[in-house]
Amino acid sequence: MSTFLGLIEELPGISVDSFEGKNLDSSVFFLSHCHADHMNGLNISFFESLEKYNKYLYCSPISKIILLNKFSLKEKCNIKEIYMDTPIIIEYEIKRGDNHVISVLSIPAGHCPGSVMFLFEKHTILILYTGDFRINPEDLPKLRSLHVKQGLRLLPKKLNRIYLDTTFLNPHFSYLPSRKESVIKIYQMTNEWLDQDPRNVVMLECSALFGSEFLYMELSKSLNKKIHVKDYLYDIYHNIAELAPHITNDSNSTPIHACTNKSARSLKCRYDVNKENILIIVPSVLKWQGKDTTKIAEWDEHREKTYNVCYSMHSSLNELKAFIQYFDPIDVFPCVCPRDQEQQIYDILNEIMNKSSNQTLKNKPKYKLRLPCYKISNVTTKNVYFSDDDSC
Ligand SMILES: [Zn+2]
Ligand SMILES: [Zn+2]
Repeated sequence: MSTFLGLIEELPGISVDSFEGKNLDSSVFFLSHCHADHMNGLNISFFESLEKYNKYLYCSPISKIILLNKFSLKEKCNIKEIYMDTPIIIEYEIKRGDNHVISVLSIPAGHCPGSVMFLFEKHTILILYTGDFRINPEDLPKLRSLHVKQGLRLLPKKLNRIYLDTTFLNPHFSYLPSRKESVIKIYQMTNEWLDQDPRNVVMLECSALFGSEFLYMELSKSLNKKIHVKDYLYDIYHNIAELAPHITNDSNSTPIHACTNKSARSLKCRYDVNKENILIIVPSVLKWQGKDTTKIAEWDEHREKTYNVCYSMHSSLNELKAFIQYFDPIDVFPCVCPRDQEQQIYDILNEIMNKSSNQTLKNKPKYKLRLPCYKISNVTTKNVYFSDDDSC
């Protein structure tokens, strides 16, 4: 659950992933992906104010599709698409009459459909905002936009600060299985169950509104069957070319259903399926807090015929360490930093930053505790890393 308040200290006049309060004074807006905790303040009147004041919101083409659908906006509204790895130059004013120029690049974030990281460049300032992200450390050298060419070598760009998704900067989540490993477990169990009886069906209990689409695509490809999804998600998904072939709104055409609400015990879209023919698979990280995440999957202790699979859309602690050490930025700002976890998060960041590879920078400032940045309303419950529906 993001606690980032939207303003980037080094870049006044722009707002990212928060569209309320002081952010409304910004001249340019960016949305990294369509999860509720990154969309605070997005509503019809916000989009009307963009038109009124001739301001723009920038996001990926897929996020634009989701926004148009969610807010019933016209195609010709003040949302501009940013295409992956294609720099755009934006001119904007902070005060009336002044003129600022910023270069922005969007980079795939591997979190949910349309999720991107933003690389902002203004004069000598280079800022990476990750939004929510999960990137396999082995793939880091493939992120071309985050590298500069030096002779024949590609070197990581020197970033002033990374605004980082620190959801799992927590020793409980040092290791998380890759999504591929999790999908294989889900595929194996689904295949086994469907083979046992032609009447059998699988219910995927995916709690996040967006985020399980990689799972849908891979499972659908491996089983050669479509996934039945809720109608309003179908309306969005069928506009997304990669997803469209793998989903359906015809409940009778497939035994795989991601159409039910959390904790439902029966299949609401089909009355011909008996309870004993239903296997529930729950891809989630929430259930794995304090457990051995190397197990990837296990049967639920309390719910019958329920198979829990560790499935994460956020980077693990080890992956975050690798990311920070690879780019070795001057500073890191934790974007998920609930008040009661703040000290632990900064301690871990300090440890990682002090061990980072580039010790040749003599003047590199010692990483120190920065001002906290949290949303009071979101930090009152115990499991503050998670929203109720694990949908961040
Ligand atoms: Zn269904
Ligand atoms: Zn998210």
